[in-house]
Amino acid sequence: MELRFCPLCARPLEPLPAGHRDAGRRACPAAHFVDYDNPAVTTFAFVADPAGRYLALRRAHPPCAGEWDLPGGFVEAGESPADAIAREIREETGLDVELLGVLGAYASVYGETGRHTVDIGFHARVEAQHLGDMLLSAEKSEAAWFALDEFPDPAFAGERAGLADLKASRPPWTSPSPTSSS
Ligand SMILES: [Zn+2]
Repeated sequence: MELRFCPLCARPLEPLPAGHRDAGRRACPAAHFVDYDNPAVTTFAFVADPAGRYLALRRAHPPCAGEWDLPGGFVEAGESPADAIAREIREETGLDVELLGVLGAYASVYGETGRHTVDIGFHARVEAQHLGDMLLSAEKSEAAWFALDEFPDPAFAGERAGLADLKASRPPWTSPSPTSSS
């Protein structure tokens, strides 16, 4: 996402000249600010049910409206990625999940906004007694559980990379828990 004005003084940003160590980047002419266009951090999670299926949510709003997605969202300032994904899952689905680990971190783009992100993917599971708590937020129009081999292509590049990693690794904690019955 390209800024046009200095966030401190509102002067129009101008490209820094050749020879400057940040040549080509846009900066405030009063030297308050250089636009490094650093990516925002987002989270997503593959949430497994006791049968080993994974939760997909359909997006109700742009970007990528109508496409399948994973629960997740942007990390807030001062928030850990683990707290962010737990909060997003609660907000979007009402589900109380157990985080099992980090799947990976992926360079990505926030759909048609063109905004660059780094997406941190988590692995999580939900116990059978919590499945009935599902309550979708207005951000999502549909929820469905898929076997990994049938999981639909999710909306964002980071999620698709995470799906490929999950399929390739099949970590042992993805197996159905022997103590749960369904
Ligand atoms: Zn300025």
